[in-house]
Amino acid sequence: MVKVDYEFRKKIMDAHIIDTLKYCYQCNRCTDVCPIATIAPNRYNPRSLILNSFLGLKSAIFENEDNFFIWGCTVCDTCDEVCPQKIELTEVFTVLKNMSIAEGKGPEYYTTQATAIYESGKAIPSQPAIERRREQMSLPQIEPPNVEEVQKILNQTKLNTIINK
Ligand code: SF4
Ligand code: SF4
Repeated sequence: MVKVDYEFRKKIMDAHIIDTLKYCYQCNRCTDVCPIATIAPNRYNPRSLILNSFLGLKSAIFENEDNFFIWGCTVCDTCDEVCPQKIELTEVFTVLKNMSIAEGKGPEYYTTQATAIYESGKAIPSQPAIERRREQMSLPQIEPPNVEEVQKILNQTKLNTIINK
């Protein structure tokens, strides 16, 4: 049986900036306009994600084996724009994604990308071919980032413990 997790429910409610926006009447507009729900209707559904979040049914969300159920959202914000109750869906989904990472259930591409940023200070590290092409085009050299500073900041967020650095 799925239980209400009140602590989880409070975290979700606290994600809302405006107090009056806590009532979803399940009209389904968010799902109707969501590009991800349109192409993967059996794997992603913002309406049901909001329903389970607002009801505090944490296990219904996190015990789903397919983490696309949480991570499918591309944060395009279309649902936020059409919700008649002005619910900030993407704020709620960010809380869910953060919890997923904290529980070590994030998708592999997230940790791979985070590791690249941690190690090189860039999301996409420079490649010699790109540098050669820049030189041919007489473009200035790109200053390398201060990796130590980047790591210091990321360590403050405890990212290093998530990516085992
Ligand atoms: S559009 Fe808003 S009110 Fe309608 S189901 Fe989605 S979150 Fe609920
Ligand atoms: S923000 Fe996420 S849930 Fe909302 S419409 Fe875009 S992909 Fe779908």
